[in-house]
Amino acid sequence: MLQALIADVHANLPALEAVLAHIEAQKPDRIYCLGDTVGYGAQPRECLQRVRRACSLVLMGNHEQAVLHGAEHFTPLARQASEWTARQLTDRETLDYLGRLEPTKKESSYLYVHGSIRDPVLDYVREADSPWMFQRLVRTLHEDFQGFDICFVGHNHRAFLATEVGYIFPHEEGPAARTRFQVAGQKLYVSVGSVGQPRDGDPRASYVLFDGTSVTYHRVPYDVDLAVRRIQEAGLPEFLGERLRLGE
Ligand code: ZN
Repeated sequence: MLQALIADVHANLPALEAVLAHIEAQKPDRIYCLGDTVGYGAQPRECLQRVRRACSLVLMGNHEQAVLHGAEHFTPLARQASEWTARQLTDRETLDYLGRLEPTKKESSYLYVHGSIRDPVLDYVREADSPWMFQRLVRTLHEDFQGFDICFVGHNHRAFLATEVGYIFPHEEGPAARTRFQVAGQKLYVSVGSVGQPRDGDPRASYVLFDGTSVTYHRVPYDVDLAVRRIQEAGLPEFLGERLRLGE
């Protein structure tokens, strides 16, 4: 069974189309989407339709939740974008669909969420920047990963593995480049990165393939200029386009 995992499309249709074309060429058995299909970008409706067609699982992200319940807790920029998004998605069918999205999916020894196991929608799995944070990760992997081994997450917009021996970052260039990692039998978080708004310094769209024993990270170039133009034409904040060029 080969599965593809995408997350954080963020209404970026050019990125989504490039990623889905890349995925189709790998012929996976299924595609799962870990939430935040909308928000920030200019084409929330088109991305929702595309994801609904392509993915056998679509989870609730914090941006779907904000469309349904308001974005008061967002930063001003995210809130402005979220309110714009909500104005594009006012029809009953779409709102009912968003309201039916589940925050978690557990399947054999895997758990799928948008955020983390502490809060499946809102909490972030972050790269540890202190020994204390790393200890907390190790404790979580030992104590809280009960009934599953691997937890697939989005939300942080960065591609990495968080394991009990450290963080692993996939690199596609350089002599020590690796994108494929054996994960069977370990407890770990697989952070799949973002399709539509990467924040790890690499503007290419990110997704992951999982064959049951190993995880392979992919980065897919797409027409960033087109996505930026659509953000400008929609009247969304300029910065939301600029950050796509930087991958930040
Ligand atoms: Zn997101």
